[in-house]
Amino acid sequence: MLAIIQFVKSVFMYEEDIWDSLVSSFLDHRLLSHTPVVLIYRNQQDEILSRQLVYSVPQARPWGLQLRCGDPYCPALPGSFYIRGGRRQRENHPYFKVKCLVCGWSSEYVQRPPWLMELPKKFFFWNHYPLSKEQKMYFLFETMRIRENTQEPEQEAGMEEEESMAVM
Ligand SMILES: [Zn+2]
Repeated sequence: MLAIIQFVKSVFMYEEDIWDSLVSSFLDHRLLSHTPVVLIYRNQQDEILSRQLVYSVPQARPWGLQLRCGDPYCPALPGSFYIRGGRRQRENHPYFKVKCLVCGWSSEYVQRPPWLMELPKKFFFWNHYPLSKEQKMYFLFETMRIRENTQEPEQEAGMEEEESMAVM
């Protein structure tokens, strides 16, 4: 509530930029860890913009994303995931890996999405809203992309191993 009052005050009383006002009023983890905030507005160049502010919560909403399992038939709920951030987590959450605790599906370590913009405070980001289907399912699509790119060398290595096994 306080954040909304501060936001309205800085926009209407002090006539500050609407987006800057939103960012300065809402960069509070107590607020954004519960829900993201979306602002749809017209800027001074007369463009309509729709942006979402998110807070990245490593154990629940990494990069603000609601988690979904890579298996479309899996009944996993948003809380059914084990999430790892790796050793460099303090550097503004550069990587995450998720594992579904219901069916065992696991993503690769994926890099912070390029469409997620950094903000002056760590672990807060913004993105254009709404997200596309691929963006919403970023862990799945990015994992598929990584596995496609690494499939060939892995297969070759696997075959070599089999050959040397056969020689032995
Ligand atoms: Zn699953």
